[in-house]
Amino acid sequence: MLRVAVVGSGPSGCYAAQSLVQQDSEVRVDVLDRLPCPYGLVRYGVAPDHEKIKSLQNNLRTVLEHDRVRFLGGVQVGPGGVPAARLRELYHAVVYCVGAATDRHLGIPGEDLPGSWSATQFVSWYSAHPDAVDDGFLLGARSVVVIGVGNVAVDVTRMLARGPAELSPTDMPQAALTALGASRVTDIHMVGRRGPSQARFTTKELRELGTLPGAGIGVDQAELALDPAYEDPSALPAAQRRNVEVLRGWAGAPPRDTPRRIRLRFFLRPVEVLADQGRVGAVRFERTVPDEQGGVTGTGRYEDIEAQVVLRSVGYRGVPLEGLPFDAGSGTVPNLAGRVLREGVVTPGEYVAGWIKRGPTGVIGTNRPCAKETVLSLLEDAPVLERKEVPDDPLPVLRAEGVEPVEWSGWQAIERAEAELGASLGRSVVKLPDWESLLAAARAVRP
Ligand SMILES: Cc1cc2nc3c(=O)[nH]c(=O)nc-3n(C[C@H](O)[C@H](O)[C@H](O)COP(=O)(O)OP(=O)(O)OC[C@H]3O[C@@H](n4cnc5c(N)ncnc54)[C@H](O)[C@@H]3O)c2cc1C
Repeated sequence: MLRVAVVGSGPSGCYAAQSLVQQDSEVRVDVLDRLPCPYGLVRYGVAPDHEKIKSLQNNLRTVLEHDRVRFLGGVQVGPGGVPAARLRELYHAVVYCVGAATDRHLGIPGEDLPGSWSATQFVSWYSAHPDAVDDGFLLGARSVVVIGVGNVAVDVTRMLARGPAELSPTDMPQAALTALGASRVTDIHMVGRRGPSQARFTTKELRELGTLPGAGIGVDQAELALDPAYEDPSALPAAQRRNVEVLRGWAGAPPRDTPRRIRLRFFLRPVEVLADQGRVGAVRFERTVPDEQGGVTGTGRYEDIEAQVVLRSVGYRGVPLEGLPFDAGSGTVPNLAGRVLREGVVTPGEYVAGWIKRGPTGVIGTNRPCAKETVLSLLEDAPVLERKEVPDDPLPVLRAEGVEPVEWSGWQAIERAEAELGASLGRSVVKLPDWESLLAAARAVRP
């Protein structure tokens, strides 16, 4: 009987576990996660007001509740936890599904000024990630610049533009709800260095920005028209064409009288975050224009946008995991159809799936075929892998070595505590925001 450890309980980890039990009628799978809570970025990334996407957690739940799948939360693999080499001794195979935990940097002066944060930090805070730090993100801010024009940039812009009545029904932690509800932000500038036909947001998310009750949307027709495809987008791929059409519609619409304004800006490359009394005061952008190769080039003309807060949303990056090879260029683990490659050679027994395998792209569903491909590789290798002697059950061994996992019953206790907290605040479920309260809830039950 094959024993597999899946490291990471986000979509790719859950889909890998699902694929394993579907295709092998005997395999036993432990899904380990450093957090006491499952579901990765579905819980700690997907915006709280997107209930429908959040409800994918229910699909992932059925995987983790499968008879031959076991969730072991609160288990860090790597430094300070279970070394990767030890895990390989305890299981026939290990599938790493650890995601892409860090953000890309802009590499411009002033990027680290107080008031400048990565979207990752901001998202983690309003999603109640227990590692998040409450930095008083919006204190005193009237104007925010969001750098980037992907879906995460749209998410943070929308969260800034929504009022407390819209956010209260979500599972957002109470402190974030209070802070966002009290925010005095009136202007949110979402800025991309390229044109509207190259923006990475999807049309559904873009369109939603125009439906927020308390926020009007503004685009500048002349700026949009710098895009060669603006006048006639018919030759663009469907997704980009629809984006341009939505923006064209907004360019022609009369402004609404709303307490908040979202301005979508294009062809502006950030060159410096400017200080005002030691904090962010503005962002300096260079105007760009399309070049001949489908990119953009600087014009030497500059524009400053006043802002007290900057949120950088220019992509995610994988981080190296001790004991595994890592390609610093792509931020992924080198692999062949999911099999980990060490110096170009396959290492049987080690696999990757999800963002750490292919980089931070695609939607949640993209992780399903990605995990399936990895599992097919693993099961092809199974006859060789099964020759290794492993403990009948690794859990008592891990416990004897001082690892105290949060099992499924512990996670269910966290869910109950979050429902109770919500009820006590007159809201529905409200997330517990720190390690202490999560572990206290989980440890209140003993498996
Ligand atoms: C802000 C944001 C919003 C998004 N919104 C959407 C959306 O609305 N719709 C959509 O389709 N997609 C969305 N995505 C994309 C989607 O979340 C990803 O495609 C998906 O989560 C990637 O899955 P993954 O399993 O590879 O990584 P993750 O979901 O990041 O899961 C990785 C898991 O591994 C665990 N882990 C990491 N390191 C270790 C370790 N050393 N030991 C043990 N455990 C470890 C982490 O705790 C985590 O639970 C969003 C992404 C972001 C960043």
